[in-house]
Amino acid sequence: MKCEKLLTDTVTMIRSIQLRRSSSRSLNFEFSSEHTQLRDVMRSFVKEKVIPVAAQYDKSMEFPWEIIKKAHSCGFLSTTIPQEYVTFISYKKSHAYAVTEPGAGSDVAGITTKCVKKGDEYIINGSKMWITNGGPANW
Ligand SMILES: Cc1cc2nc3c(=O)[nH]c(=O)nc-3n(C[C@H](O)[C@H](O)[C@H](O)COP(=O)(O)OP(=O)(O)OC[C@H]3O[C@@H](n4cnc5c(N)ncnc54)[C@H](O)[C@@H]3O)c2cc1C
Repeated sequence: MKCEKLLTDTVTMIRSIQLRRSSSRSLNFEFSSEHTQLRDVMRSFVKEKVIPVAAQYDKSMEFPWEIIKKAHSCGFLSTTIPQEYVTFISYKKSHAYAVTEPGAGSDVAGITTKCVKKGDEYIINGSKMWITNGGPANW
């Protein structure tokens, strides 16, 4: 699988799906040719790159950086992030969205984590849980 070529194809497919969705006036549950193409590309990526090493990662509990980097180089990640955030596009940084806490999930008003600015730094105190990418994230 040539990931470099897939990058442009994937972005084009996703943009065309988004365009179709926003311009459609009636409900249509059929997959478009772009949906089918995207599904097929994802299937072959998972078959070739993920399945062969999945059990190994399950056992070692390591974060699957190699898979993440390959998925990124194929254009499967970060397609909704504007181009100006190049550090994310090049995947030099990994990010997480940390809302959920032991006492607050859907009820975001119940969040107790506090962030206080002290000089040039922000001091954050609190507990988070179930944060996807929370371990390796640096942003
Ligand atoms: C695989 C996975 C990955 C996750 N990744 C992240 C992440 O990256 N970042 C992050 O911040 N969180 C993450 N979460 C947490 C997820 O977003 C929370 O599970 C979610 O916010 C729900 O919170 P909760 O589990 O505390 O459930 P609760 O908020 O306690 O809800 C329990 C049940 O009550 C229902 N409910 C809640 N409020 C109401 C209401 N007002 N009216 C009617 N019904 C209601 C809910 O629909 C649910 O069925 C992840 C969770 C999973 C499973």
